[in-house]
Amino acid sequence: MALVKAIKSSKPPKQGMLKNVMAQFEAASKLVNLNPNIKKILEVTNNELIIYFPVRMDNGTIEIFKGYRVQHNNALGPYKGGLRYHPTIDIDSVKALAMWMTWKTSLAGLPYGGAKGGIQMDTSKYSTAELERITRRFTYALGENIGPEHDIPAPDVNTNAQTMAWIADTYMSTKSPSERSKNQHVVTGKPIGSGGLEGRDRATGYGVFLTIKYWAKHKNVNLKGKTFIVQGFGNVGYWAAYFLEQEGAKMVGAQDAYASITYEDGINVSQLLEYTKTNQGSIEGYPNATSIDKDAFFGLSCDILIPAALGNQITVDNAPAIKAFLIAEGANGPTTVEAEQILLEKGVEIIPDILCNSGGVIGSYFEWLQNRNGELWQLDDILTKLDKKIKDVFRKVLETSKSKKIDMRSAAYVLAIKRIENAYVQRGIFP
Ligand code: NAD
Repeated sequence: MALVKAIKSSKPPKQGMLKNVMAQFEAASKLVNLNPNIKKILEVTNNELIIYFPVRMDNGTIEIFKGYRVQHNNALGPYKGGLRYHPTIDIDSVKALAMWMTWKTSLAGLPYGGAKGGIQMDTSKYSTAELERITRRFTYALGENIGPEHDIPAPDVNTNAQTMAWIADTYMSTKSPSERSKNQHVVTGKPIGSGGLEGRDRATGYGVFLTIKYWAKHKNVNLKGKTFIVQGFGNVGYWAAYFLEQEGAKMVGAQDAYASITYEDGINVSQLLEYTKTNQGSIEGYPNATSIDKDAFFGLSCDILIPAALGNQITVDNAPAIKAFLIAEGANGPTTVEAEQILLEKGVEIIPDILCNSGGVIGSYFEWLQNRNGELWQLDDILTKLDKKIKDVFRKVLETSKSKKIDMRSAAYVLAIKRIENAYVQRGIFP
């Protein structure tokens, strides 16, 4: 509980993702006794880009969009992080998400830094053709601010393999024909057939599942028959639920942007996915479950809660009602620091986002290597490599947590920040 305690003693209550990540970093810096000069570097973002760009709509009118790319830190390698298309995207949320990426890639031992970006928009208002033009124009506007050895975007909320294919094609089309192919790894999360990695679609959700599995093994908990609820039934939520169901656990609740549903005998994960495909991607109206009020969702009886939607979802308002004994953070920043304090005091354990959802960026690293080396990797090998990596990182976090008597988030931060500090100490500051 050390990180939360340090936050409690040093910081007033804070709101917003940026304030959350800054409070976490501040407390973690104290835990590792971070060199004050390096702390100054890490508490700011290296580059913040805001782009207004015009796009022609299907009806011939022009709409102006606001896009972001924030590059937090590249001490360990090129900037890496997703692109989110959502109305809540603003500079502070992108800064926060970029910082979390730096800690995540560092913790996972990858040769990457951290970045994030996106467009402030409601994707449901646009046709596929419009989304393609928006994405291509945004990519063009980003220009050389992204690049396969400089800053490598990936999918996030409301972006997917198709979005990445448009970005890769646009970026590669701005190069001379002889340079085209060597720029394919400008983004990861591409479709298979366009340089994508087998299994990248499930990498984040599989990683979420693996961290739950290793936690359960460590605690001697049998996942068979355990119940879970998932907030966000998109890429991460679906795949995490899929693998947990395969292990014998039962999904008793799901929530998306439109509805919250429950069924205590278990909601079939594949059937729910099939239903969403006929219902504009939403779980709303799923016939084999009961609809409940949005605010009642986190209080559902269950063993495991997987937030896999947006940040700041678990707050002081709903944390006291949470019945799960384990929270596995599929989403980035889903728990506020004040809510975490309540949960840890209740004895709820939290697998922190920078560990729990790191399967995605690990999968992205594999895709990047595959493209860079002109290789094609097999699904079995990829999932085995992913498992090995997650197991290793999980073990390190657990060992640090035990030896320092701190919670898992604090332990994850200690490892992540130490690695970056070490790089700066070895290298010094130019000039
Ligand atoms: P997605 O767009 O595939 O799915 C998002 C889901 O969240 C949808 O079901 C949507 O309806 C739901 N949702 C949106 N707003 C909501 C709200 N207010 N309440 C409840 N549900 C809501 O996105 P994704 O790729 O699955 O990403 C989900 C989370 O996982 C994000 O926090 C993202 O940053 C994080 N993450 C994603 C990846 C990845 O590889 N895609 C990797 C690491 C972390």
